Amino acid sequence: MSLGLDPISTHKKVCSFNCTYCQLGCAEQADAIAGRQVFVATSDLIEEIKLLESEVRIDYLTFSGNGEPTLAANLGEMITAVRSVRPEKVAVITNGTLLGRKDVQADLKGVDLVLVKLEAADERVFQALNRPAAGITWRSTLDGIKAFKGTFKGRFALQIMFVEANKAQASKLAALAREIGADEIQLNTPLRPNAEKPLSLLEMTAIKDQFAGLNVRMVYEEEKKDYHPFDDQQTIRRHGQYKQA
Ligand code: SF4
Repeated sequence: MSLGLDPISTHKKVCSFNCTYCQLGCAEQADAIAGRQVFVATSDLIEEIKLLESEVRIDYLTFSGNGEPTLAANLGEMITAVRSVRPEKVAVITNGTLLGRKDVQADLKGVDLVLVKLEAADERVFQALNRPAAGITWRSTLDGIKAFKGTFKGRFALQIMFVEANKAQASKLAALAREIGADEIQLNTPLRPNAEKPLSLLEMTAIKDQFAGLNVRMVYEEEKKDYHPFDDQQTIRRHGQYKQA
């Protein structure tokens, strides 16, 4: 059970990527940003969290939301504040573009679980699939992920979304996952409503074979659990359609 915390919470997504499969919709390229700023006051987040009934069962408080959470300049402050009012573990889902920054590394220092996106094994696929903000390169992102992994003491998972554009890179991505030393690798294909077609079970199984020997979870093999957001309308507003109509 994960409670999503959105440190961005803007009407339109705010991200340093503009992935072709993004379920938040494809903002214009110019909307992808690389700089940090405060979007939501930490006190507002804490006020809302205090409204939760204390006995509600949650495993992780997960910072994700309407774009890239590390773009929130007060992310570290939020994590500290959340820990002071709730006992659960804290996770952050990130596209990895800011992980080379010392301030971001410091913000994520005490987090229990970080899930990092890595979907391209070269600059060409990175630009075509993730469509980053100006100045963000595949090399700078990969170097940032490695630098972060070297300092991070919590659990580190890689999330790889496979679509037509990167399916031929599975073995190179597996080699990168081994080099980085991820604790877990999640192999996904976009099953939620978006602009890209998902790969088949057969294609994903062939991709999984490339990751032999690693701790892998593959989307088609995961048990389907019935889930209910606390608030359906808010979930759709922040994440787009999260399940097929
Ligand atoms: S990193 Fe996530 S939020 Fe950003 S564009 Fe890609 S899928 Fe969308």
